[in-house]
Amino acid sequence: MSEEVFELGGVVGRRLLCPRCGRVLSWIESQHRGGNTYYYAIHYMGSFKDSRGKVRKKVKRCYLGPYSYIYVTQLHRDLNLILRGAVDSNRAFYYLDAFVDAILGMELDKSTMIEIASKLERLVWVIRSYVEKGGREEVFRAQSEERDTKDIQGDKSTPS
Ligand SMILES: [Zn+2]
Repeated sequence: MSEEVFELGGVVGRRLLCPRCGRVLSWIESQHRGGNTYYYAIHYMGSFKDSRGKVRKKVKRCYLGPYSYIYVTQLHRDLNLILRGAVDSNRAFYYLDAFVDAILGMELDKSTMIEIASKLERLVWVIRSYVEKGGREEVFRAQSEERDTKDIQGDKSTPS
């Protein structure tokens, strides 16, 4: 879970932010179904009186996922990386931003920085290739054709 630092009356505190919607998380609820535990982030929206005059909490629920999801999220906590579900179409951007923030916040030696830079250069190259050649499948096909061509050339250059 990512946290938000807030100040209230001179007191600095932290509160958890919902990985789904980014709002402040009031508490987490779990539900046990079919041998699995599913977690929900609860956002307290205030209270109201129902038709019988009973005070009820108004809450919004965000589904967080099963236990394994929470567990993996905890493992990534040091990177401030909250794993997002498949429903979030912007998750690539989210991961990338979280990654960049994490890297920039680390004390890294020169060789590690060079290694990270070369990995990022490779990523940029691969993504540009996908875009230019019309998709991932096209790049794989082009690479395997290139490999086949090299093999044939290699056979030709072999002295007979
Ligand atoms: Zn939420």
